[in-house]
Amino acid sequence: MLFHSEQLLFKPRYEWALGERIDHPETTARAESIVHALSEDPLFELWQPPALPAAHLRGLHAPSLLHLYEKTVALQDDLYPTVFPRGDGVRADPDNLHHAGWWCFDAGTPLNGQMWSAARWSAAAAVEAARRISQGEGLAYSLSRPPGHHATRDRFGGYCYLNNGALAARTLRKAGARKVAILDIDYHHGNGTQSLFWRDPSVLTVSVHADPRTDFPYYTGFPEERGAGRGEGFNLNLCEERGCDGTRYRQILQEQVAPVLRAFEPAALILAAGLDTYRLDPLGKFELTTDDLREVGELIGSWGYPTVAVQEGGYHSAHLGRNARALLRGLRDGLSRPR
Ligand SMILES: [Zn+2]
Repeated sequence: MLFHSEQLLFKPRYEWALGERIDHPETTARAESIVHALSEDPLFELWQPPALPAAHLRGLHAPSLLHLYEKTVALQDDLYPTVFPRGDGVRADPDNLHHAGWWCFDAGTPLNGQMWSAARWSAAAAVEAARRISQGEGLAYSLSRPPGHHATRDRFGGYCYLNNGALAARTLRKAGARKVAILDIDYHHGNGTQSLFWRDPSVLTVSVHADPRTDFPYYTGFPEERGAGRGEGFNLNLCEERGCDGTRYRQILQEQVAPVLRAFEPAALILAAGLDTYRLDPLGKFELTTDDLREVGELIGSWGYPTVAVQEGGYHSAHLGRNARALLRGLRDGLSRPR
């Protein structure tokens, strides 16, 4: 498990949902629950990642976005962008925090003085996990918090600031992996990851998620989104209605995801490991149990790809640790099966 304690210093307090101010679900208790559960398990060791050079981020994210993040270090309080310009002819200045809405797509993802450090360590953990896989390990887990799969090249949102899983994929590619697949099993569509590799045939992006007509991020995640240019055909969106249970979920993985991965033949897999498919999750509306999550892990592990598991969502803090452990134990068991 890759994790840095500075990831716990970022504490978003609230967000807006249909005009109501609600407690922010992306709490430090989430990470604490996972650290606690995995620390108790002799199978997992806690490692602190090395710091991530800024150049590593610039390869994926827009310099202006990173510049804006640098400015947030001076913030004394949470900043929620309130003006979201669209279209041509818009000028935005990353030195002016009133303009932060240009780099943001929702009202649930605040900036404050602790965000930038937490987000960089979260990304550093994912990059280090990928580096370990590139050196021959079979499974590495990054406790990335804040999460990353909604972050695009130049926009933050969905509690995500830097796209940790995408950074992990790039790390593997730079280390020589010709093809990498990202499988996103978070309840929500990985819109940021999709956009980052939209034209890239060397990174296959697959996301299994709730129907965007009913669930965040609403505007994307439909099956007809398949990539473009040379990347056309290398993005797969599988939408499922609310109420999807473990049996159905594994069926999707077995029948619709496994053959696509097999045909693609990736050197490694990034698993965007959201746990908000859990039946008691306050944001997700699927019905997977802890045991289902273990079986999901085992099934994915049985495919045999060296795997970087990167934490994404999952908001039932009290059960999040045991769900992460179940998924990871399943992955390890699947990977160790003879093939
Ligand atoms: Zn999610």
